[in-house]
Amino acid sequence: MSAKVWLVGAGPGDPELLTLKAVRALHAADVVMIDDLVNPAVLEHCPNARIVPVGKRGGCRSTPQDFIHRLMLRYARQGKCVVRLKGGDPCIFGRGSEEAEWLGVRGIEVELVNGITAGLAGATNCGIPLTLRGVARGVTLITAHTQDDSSLNWSALARSGTTLVVYMGVAKLEDIRSSLMTGGLDSRTPVAMIENASLPHQRELRSTLTSMYEDALAFELKSPAILVIGEVAAAGGSWKCTDTTVSTQPENKQVIRRGR
Ligand code: SAH
Repeated sequence: MSAKVWLVGAGPGDPELLTLKAVRALHAADVVMIDDLVNPAVLEHCPNARIVPVGKRGGCRSTPQDFIHRLMLRYARQGKCVVRLKGGDPCIFGRGSEEAEWLGVRGIEVELVNGITAGLAGATNCGIPLTLRGVARGVTLITAHTQDDSSLNWSALARSGTTLVVYMGVAKLEDIRSSLMTGGLDSRTPVAMIENASLPHQRELRSTLTSMYEDALAFELKSPAILVIGEVAAAGGSWKCTDTTVSTQPENKQVIRRGR
């Protein structure tokens, strides 16, 4: 493959959830710039590439996005095949399109490659159908964390009749609960919280809107985790996904259910 930048989704963690296209790009890469949330196990597909960690813990705290942009540009202009590897999908709360745009206007060829986003992976892995005939007509992906602290229209979300999947919500559980309850969502609405989705140490907590905050505290829920809020969040549990890396260490997988 010639010099270009591939903005690739690495999926939620389980290396088997990589796409074939992501694997092909990794094989071709000279340089792989990797985010914190990417499971390093996926790097087995690029044994000869230079690996450059560029997550927040990668030593570029001050102006990370600008630093990342310039580094991608420099490598691409050197004629290298660059893979920018991001957790989940590059365009779901992942700045993939911003990076593509920045490179594109500077004449760099860019390709975006889908990854399985954490919200979809976590739910499916726990047997939760995000849409369900007669129960949930849609699904809304939202982030509880905004750059400018602007607020979501929580009452519209509460009335939407769609399943809500919340990213980056662990530190905002109390606010999310009160916003949704004020917006009119039933306090008994089921909530599932899935930490480290698809990884061997995945943990899953089932609760309700009214007690999600206290239950999460007791469970010591940690980031990265996604929240699934809606009637469907009570589903699953009578069977478990076994054909993933999760099954290799089932003793690590923790499932806690709290009553409705
Ligand atoms: N582009 C990513 C999301 C990046 S935002 C994607 O499509 O998945 C980071 C947030 O994603 C985390 O705070 C968490 O809410 C969620 N997340 C990422 N990986 C996760 C995982 N393995 N398990 C649970 N949540 C995860």
